[in-house]
Amino acid sequence: MPADTAIAAARPPTPVTALKGVGPAVAERLGRLGITTVEDLLFHLPLRYEDRTRITPMGALRPGQAAVVQGEVLLTDVRYGRRRMLISEIADGSGRLTLRFFHFSNAMRQSLARGTVVRCYGEVRRGRHGLELVHPEYRRVDDPQAPVAEHLTAVYPTTEGLHQLSLRQLLDQALARLERGALALDELLPEALLHEAGLPSLAEALLLLHRPPPEVSLASLEEGAHPAQRRLAFEELLAHQLALRQLRRRVARHRAVPLAPPGELAARLRAGLGFALTGAQERVLAEIMADLARPHPMQRLVQGDVGCGKTVVAALAAAAAVEAGGQAAVMAPTELLAEQHLKNFRAWFEPLGVEVAWLAGSLTPARRKRVIAALAAGDCPLVVGTHALFQEEVDFANLVLAIVDEQHRFGVHQRLALREKGAGDGRLPHQLIMTATPIPRTLAQTAYADLDHSVIDELPPGRRPVETVVVPASRRDEVVARLHRAVRSGRQAYWVCTLIEESEALQAQAAEDTAAALREALPDVRVGLVHGRMKAADKERVMAAFKAHELDLLVATTVIEVGVDVPNASVMIIENPERLGLSQLHQLRGRVGRGAEASSCVLLYHGRLGETARARLQALRETSDGFEIARRDLELRGPGELLGTRQAGLMRLKVADLQRDLPLLPQVQRAAAVMAREHPERVEPLIRRWLGEGLRYREA
Ligand code: ADP
Ligand code: MG
Repeated sequence: MPADTAIAAARPPTPVTALKGVGPAVAERLGRLGITTVEDLLFHLPLRYEDRTRITPMGALRPGQAAVVQGEVLLTDVRYGRRRMLISEIADGSGRLTLRFFHFSNAMRQSLARGTVVRCYGEVRRGRHGLELVHPEYRRVDDPQAPVAEHLTAVYPTTEGLHQLSLRQLLDQALARLERGALALDELLPEALLHEAGLPSLAEALLLLHRPPPEVSLASLEEGAHPAQRRLAFEELLAHQLALRQLRRRVARHRAVPLAPPGELAARLRAGLGFALTGAQERVLAEIMADLARPHPMQRLVQGDVGCGKTVVAALAAAAAVEAGGQAAVMAPTELLAEQHLKNFRAWFEPLGVEVAWLAGSLTPARRKRVIAALAAGDCPLVVGTHALFQEEVDFANLVLAIVDEQHRFGVHQRLALREKGAGDGRLPHQLIMTATPIPRTLAQTAYADLDHSVIDELPPGRRPVETVVVPASRRDEVVARLHRAVRSGRQAYWVCTLIEESEALQAQAAEDTAAALREALPDVRVGLVHGRMKAADKERVMAAFKAHELDLLVATTVIEVGVDVPNASVMIIENPERLGLSQLHQLRGRVGRGAEASSCVLLYHGRLGETARARLQALRETSDGFEIARRDLELRGPGELLGTRQAGLMRLKVADLQRDLPLLPQVQRAAAVMAREHPERVEPLIRRWLGEGLRYREA
């Protein structure tokens, strides 16, 4: 295998200082762009392109178009309007054009003397007296037949003190070295794979993207659809995939405490539930128990639609940990959600004599200290909390199972941090991760390639789909009247206020105003209010009152998105639903439809709906299947929304775009398997090329 030998003997990368024109100052500026080697420079791809490969006749120009024109200067003059400016009229036989400069020198004026032939590049605008170019780039041409640019002109992302032209010039040098084969840029993708996928080689792709020939379509480059871009995106996605798989294998090599199959504690927990698990819950629990029985850490992601009953499955896994004499921790991304888990876990475990501790940011320092001491001493087997659980001073005596809910709100490094909590004797805790938002399979397997996947694809029996209607705010009175009738017939309702801004203060204000207005409109209705700015204890009190049906209507911000569970609540009004993503709306709506009553959800929108907003609300009306909704959300808004913005750190992609390149993913997954099996020596260089040395994935 000659190619592999070449890679094994890979040459070291070339420092940028090897290029002409790169002294310490330029090197420092390149460093700011993350470029320290000539190889890095080649992965510094253009932001966009300009087509300067042909001269456009002036008669064919359109406003808005960027073009190269060439013509003879008819006259050049300084005009004094509101501002002093230099005006130059040029013509090429097909038409005329005005050049307009607000900043100019005498030299410029002279260079544009009547009779001179100039070549200009700029964006065409409609002026008062015909078409014009404002501050175009221009130069005098002595030979009117002088060739135009051979390639589309690349425009690079740059930084202060580093001119486009310098970057282009440095890239010319880098590309020349690439063509000579003088760089540490081996082709790492197997030939068969490139062939099968119809992708160009790495060198071809880089050359094309930096210096596209004139016949390449600007549109395909702008859409990221060109095979050269697909080639790089493919390689990048593959590198991430391999890094995650590597992480997974590294973790799997660690030891973990094997847990016995469900025993007495789990049996008593089940007996106290008051319901039987669904088939899907049983199946997923069995998958989890099989993992837990092994002496290596479980790394499993459980997906399931809102309301499918993930919590109880997690609790049964926790029971196995406790029964084995170990500790289990349950972590949720918000205090409200963590509190909800705490309540469930206490209701299930405390009757069985198992204490459940609580650790969150809102604890007083004294209580916090006590809980931390108890965890370190091994005095509490179960703890529920927020990210406070993975702070440095938290130590567990014997953490054998870490459960993370709402995974998409945590980044991979936070997941790793909790995992490390169990590493005292070299053994890692088993890890169970639950997502509230179902993610389409291919995407999940890409973003969470370090995890095994389970899906709870069945809802508990008796759930009825929530009847969803979309209503304009002009019919608010009707909605309020309908709400009134529902409350008088003994039902409970949510009124959810949303705001565009992430500002909790504004959200809270909106909720307060709405609550006041509804109290006034419906004096016989008991109205409560929760929002993110309230103290935990106050929120808790209001939620408890709502749950006990001491309140009929709960006005809330999106803090109730996750975790709130009040089966008697069967009506939800969402104000300004057009401001939320589909998956978030689905989560919200999942708060109703939990009891025996038929439930309804009113999407009360303001103003005129844009096309996307309309499609989103329509989707919500048509389906209640979370996976289907996730699929549509992906179509409408892309994976960033679906995976959550906080996820950004998980896959920081340079070239690939999960939305655009979604169709590549199955092939990427197959390629990862082939690479690992047939070209293991290429895996490291590939990961290093794309993820660099600061490989977060490999910290475990
Ligand atoms: P999610 O998967 O959205 O976290 P939860 O775990 O909060 O869902 O469960 C939603 C509700 O369904 C809870 O009230 C829970 O007790 C109840 N539940 C869970 N499993 C079942 C089941 N098999 N039968 C009946 N109710 C169930
Ligand atoms: Mg849940």
